[in-house]
Amino acid sequence: MKIIEPSVEFIAATPNIGQVIELGARNCYKSEDKIGEGTDEKLFNQIVKQHHHDSVVEHGSITLRVVTDRAMLAQITRHRHFSFSVESQRYCSYAKNKFGSQITVIKPHGLTKGFPVWQSAMRQAEHHYFAMIEEGCKPEVARSVLPNSTKTEIIMTGNVRCWRQFLSLRLAGHAQKDVQHLARLMHEAIIDNGVPEYLFDDVVNPAK
Ligand SMILES: Cc1cc2nc3c(=O)[nH]c(=O)nc-3n(C[C@H](O)[C@H](O)[C@H](O)COP(=O)(O)OP(=O)(O)OC[C@H]3O[C@@H](n4cnc5c(N)ncnc54)[C@H](O)[C@@H]3O)c2cc1C
Repeated sequence: MKIIEPSVEFIAATPNIGQVIELGARNCYKSEDKIGEGTDEKLFNQIVKQHHHDSVVEHGSITLRVVTDRAMLAQITRHRHFSFSVESQRYCSYAKNKFGSQITVIKPHGLTKGFPVWQSAMRQAEHHYFAMIEEGCKPEVARSVLPNSTKTEIIMTGNVRCWRQFLSLRLAGHAQKDVQHLARLMHEAIIDNGVPEYLFDDVVNPAK
């Protein structure tokens, strides 16, 4: 059994995403002649942050690979406007060499005191999963004993409107700690890869 931390990898974003969104917005007013240095941010601040003309941000799209667990998968996939491709426990047999003939689990964020109990539960689940495979069960049947902590990989694509709503809800203090942590990793991956910060700063720091 392998224990890993959750992680996020940036895959792709619409090139010149700020300018593409600006173009969409300016088409409404036929004000393309006003496009210049820094006008994308200025227009975004005005029409999206102040006037909530939100549909224009749908012209920009971002794709991430998210390594998380099945409990987070259930929360993330409630956001219906994203497109998801999810590691399948029907088709992936963790008994195979390419998975190291073991299950991989994500350590819950903030788990300290209960760690030995959790680790023992994960080992037992792995033991039962392999016992079922040895009995001849297909992975789609054996997966029924896998825990919520089982690692899963998600390729997740959404437009900037989806991401703004997702980050706003999942970074909030009352969201579960694991999903808050994941949302922070997602935001960092987006910003560290050249997507302008102004597209998200109001939802990430609502007081601003
Ligand atoms: C802190 C927290 C706790 C939660 N706890 C629970 C829980 O205990 N149990 C539970 O079941 N869920 C829970 N959820 C999930 C929550 O109910 C939403 O499913 C999730 O946040 C996705 O929000 P959404 O539907 O607005 O997003 P999306 O599906 O991305 O939709 C975005 C927006 O599109 C519009 N929209 C989408 N579909 C429709 C539709 N069919 N009709 C009308 N408008 C639509 C709405 O304006 C919506 O806000 C929780 C979420 C959070 C953030």
